[in-house]
Order: sequence, then structure tokens, then C-alpha cells
Amino acid sequence: MSLNPCPSNFPAYSNSVRSEAIPALSYLVLARKWRPQTFQDLIGQEHVCRTLQNAIESGRVAHAFLFTGARGVGKTSAARILAKALQCENGPVQEPCNACPACLEITSGNSVDVIEIDGASNTGVEDIRELRENIKYLPSRCRFKIFIIDEVHMLSTSAFNALLKTLEEPPPHVKFIFATTEPHKVPITILSRCQRFDFKRIPLPKIVDLLRTIVAEEKVAVSEASLTAIARKGDGSMRDSLSTLDQVLAFCGNGVEDDEVIALLGVVDRRLLLETSRAVFARDCQAALDIVARVDSFGYNMRSFCQELIDHFRNFVVLKVLANPAELLDLAEGELADIREQATAGTLDQLQRYLSILLKAEAEMSLSGFTRLILEMALLKMCTLLPVVPVDELIERLKALEGGGGQKLASPSVAPRAPQATVPATTRTLETPEKTPPAADPSSSTPTPSQEGWPGFVAFVNSEKISLGKILEHGRPLQFSAKDVEIGFPAGSFHLSCLQDAETLASLTELAARFCKATPAVRLTSLNGEHKGLPSTVQEKKSLEADGRQRKLEEAARKHPLVTAAVEIFEAEITEVVALERDAGAKEEID
Ligand SMILES: [Zn+2]
Repeated sequence: MSLNPCPSNFPAYSNSVRSEAIPALSYLVLARKWRPQTFQDLIGQEHVCRTLQNAIESGRVAHAFLFTGARGVGKTSAARILAKALQCENGPVQEPCNACPACLEITSGNSVDVIEIDGASNTGVEDIRELRENIKYLPSRCRFKIFIIDEVHMLSTSAFNALLKTLEEPPPHVKFIFATTEPHKVPITILSRCQRFDFKRIPLPKIVDLLRTIVAEEKVAVSEASLTAIARKGDGSMRDSLSTLDQVLAFCGNGVEDDEVIALLGVVDRRLLLETSRAVFARDCQAALDIVARVDSFGYNMRSFCQELIDHFRNFVVLKVLANPAELLDLAEGELADIREQATAGTLDQLQRYLSILLKAEAEMSLSGFTRLILEMALLKMCTLLPVVPVDELIERLKALEGGGGQKLASPSVAPRAPQATVPATTRTLETPEKTPPAADPSSSTPTPSQEGWPGFVAFVNSEKISLGKILEHGRPLQFSAKDVEIGFPAGSFHLSCLQDAETLASLTELAARFCKATPAVRLTSLNGEHKGLPSTVQEKKSLEADGRQRKLEEAARKHPLVTAAVEIFEAEITEVVALERDAGAKEEID
């Protein structure tokens, strides 16, 4: 669009109008001096202007309009331009002439037929009743009676009700233009009777464009970077951006330095953001930490800086995924070029990981006092992040390992079933330290070694009389031979008391005789204190075996080439090795 705020284009908007409007002020604030006087001047709201102009052109102008949007985006200006376009002596026209008496009166705020009401200070039903009285009379000089109600959401409920009656049956000579920052507070009954226009926040480059024109007109040299900082501070509001420019000009005079502007506005220097991303892309930890130190020395808030960084890295992501990213990026042209230049250094995955690190850091900062430390750690993590391998590629690599590694899998050292094959040997070695218990009967003449025979005997009893077998699993075979069976239990234990029953002891003796094919004397011994050095119970052996099997399984799993490859590729850590069903089956074989 062509920018046309220059007063010289519009005779009506010359010094005479200005001095008439605000005669008391020697210095006219920029926001008023540069207030748009035509639809063409209304920056960033082209969609609104086009629709309104088409409506005027086709003669289908609604009775009531609702202009919504953030502060300072041009709602009230648009309302006045629309009023002028409707009242202009040449019109209704698509653009007001800004020269006829009707236009001039509206510009200066003196029109008797265009009544501006501030909803915030005229909220009562009385005000609206007065308005309704006023509506009855025909316009005194112009075509319409136009009521512009700003901040309309501030009206009281009774005022809205009074207004509604007028909106339901509007006289043909009346037009309403409502403006609000909070449309959700306007009753639906009112909303439904208005033609609604949503004003957008103004894109940064467009604000910068106007600021550039203004400083040229004011004959002040201000750099692009400073203009961008000023516009960004305005956050999509033209009025706020112009107020900020006023402030900068008042503070800096005619020599506006970038550093002064940045200090005055209290904003983060964009160069720091670019330096940070450059450090991260270059994996330069030193540079990243230096930047944090500088941010700290400038007295910036660390969390604000982190939030700026999040925005900054979002820019990279948007740039990566969109063909035409400018619309979604609130960046001046020069900034976009800087981002574009750096963006080639990172992949999308990488950028997304950076973003999630920063987002996490920002959340942590809200809970902790160590904001600098958190930011430093986040940046270090970003600098040292390993390059990301796309998931597709990982899957390919794993497939290649599985397919090509078939031989490897069959090798006994790594095959999943290998650990079980070695378990019996392990079991035996585990027993070795207990080979010389004091209870091992050296005088025994029977060939059955006590340690070998006892588990067999317990298994035999389990098969014959399981209740008795389960008790024996907790007993220690102090002696086990064809003539002597001595079983130790902890003094006062439940198992001991069970066996001390005469009948139970008799059946135990009978089973021992059958197992040994002899008539051993069966004795029960009550054990006190430490059991160290005594023969193990079957229960203890079982749990030792289970431990050994688990350890073997874990060892085998960690050595497995597929596992080691996955650990490396994913930068993973093995937290647990779980035996699958088929291992449980294998366990039976071993027992
Ligand atoms: Zn006119």
C-alpha cells in the first residue's frame, strides 16, 4: 500500500486544522499530528477499509457498526473517517475530501451531527436517554446523525437496554459506530444488531514504515534498529509506538543513538539475541556464557531475556516450516534477513529441541531465584546438544542392524537364551563358599553328599506331601546321610513348631526312609543367633539363583549389539532388564 500520512496531500489536514483542534499545545504529540484522515492512511486495517468502502460505494451502509480490537490500532480513527466519508459534501464517498466544512468539522471535533461519546464516562441510563432524545431530531446540517460510542462495553446494563430499543428500530437518518477493546463484554443483543469489524494488531514492518516517514518529516536521524525497537515496544499499537517515538525524541533530541534508545526503552538489544543463537549454532559455550554475563550486567531481567530468546528461536522454526513466513513473524525486514542467514545452521528437529529447553528453563525460572544459573544451564545444554538424527533414519539403522546382524544374534555370547545355558554353572559356583559347613558330616559313610541330597529330598517331600515340603524349604540340612538327618530351624520359628508335632515328625521320618532307602534318625535342631556358615536352605538357594540369573540377563542385554546401538543412537540409559515369558519357561528347565 502507499503510505500517505503526509499532511501536504490533504489541504484540510494542514496547519489550520491542527491549530484549530488543539490550540493550547505548542507541541502536538505525534499520535495526533499523524492521525490518519483517510482510509488509505489507516495502516494495517486494509480488510476493514475495503469492506467499508465497498459498502459506501454500493449504498448498503449498515445502521450500526462495531469496531473491535486492541488499543491504538485505529478503531476511533476509522470511525471518524467513516463518519466523514458518509457526511462529506461530495458524498457519501469512498474517501472523505477533508476539505469541505462537514469534513473539517468532524476532524476538529466540532460537528453537531457527529456525536462522540466516551462509554467509560457516560455509562448511565440517563446518558442513553438523552441520546435517544437527541436521535429524534433530524441532522441539522449533514446527511446523518452519527453517534460514535467509544469503549461501548463500559455501558451499564440499563444503558444497553435503552440503546437496544433504538437499535431495534433505528430512524433512517441515524448511524451508530461502536468501538471496544472487549467485545465479549458487549451484550449479544447489541452485537447481533451491529456489523462487526475486527481490527488487527498492526504488523511491525508497517509501523516501522510509518515511523521512518515521520522521522524523515521531523528531520531527525534515527537508525532502523532503533525504529524497530520503538515499534516493537508498541506491540502492534500505532498509538503506543508513536507515543514511544515522542518519548525517544524528547529524551534524545536530534541525535538519537541506538544504545540510548535501548536503555531508555528498557528492551533487550536484538543483537544479543542474534549473538545467542549464533553461539548456540556454533556450539560455543564460552560465548553463550559471556552473553548471559552481559545480560546480567545490563540489569536485564533474566526471565524476560529467556522469553525473548523463546520468541527468537520460534522465529527460526517458523522460518523453517513456512514458505512465506513474514506474516507470522513480527520482524522488521533487516531482522528477517539476519534470522534467515542464521537459520541454515540448524535443523528443524534441533530448533524444536532448543525451544523445549528454553521453555522448560522459563518455567523453572518462575519457581526459582537462580534465574541466571537456570539460563546458563539451558544455554550450555543447547550448545552441547548432539546433532539430531531423524527418526526415519534411526529406524533404518536399527533395521539394518537386525537384518545384517542375524549371525551375531546366533552367537552364544549375545544370544538372548545364552544366559540360561550358563546358569547351572553359576549355581554351582555360588554354592562353593558353603562347601565346608561344620555340619557336613565327614564321618558319613553314605555316598549321598549332603548338599546334593538335601534339595533332592525336599523336592521328593514336595511331591509326596507339599505342606511338609514347603516347611522343609526353610530348614538347614545340618546333617543329611542315610543314617543321620538333622534339620536346623530358627529357635521358636513357626516351621519348627509345625514339625515338632509327633504325627508330622513321624511322616517326615517315613519319607526320609523312603528317599534314602534306609532308616535314618531324623532330628530337629533349634538354632540360635547367626546362621552364617551353616548350610543354606532351599529357599535361600532359590533366591540366590534368581539373583544370578537376573545379573546374567542384564549383562547379556547390555552387551547385545542391538541394545548398545540403540543406547548410542538414542543417547539412552538402560534402567531395567525384564525377563520375558520365554525366559520364565527356561527357568523351569534349569530348576
Ligand atoms: Zn468533505
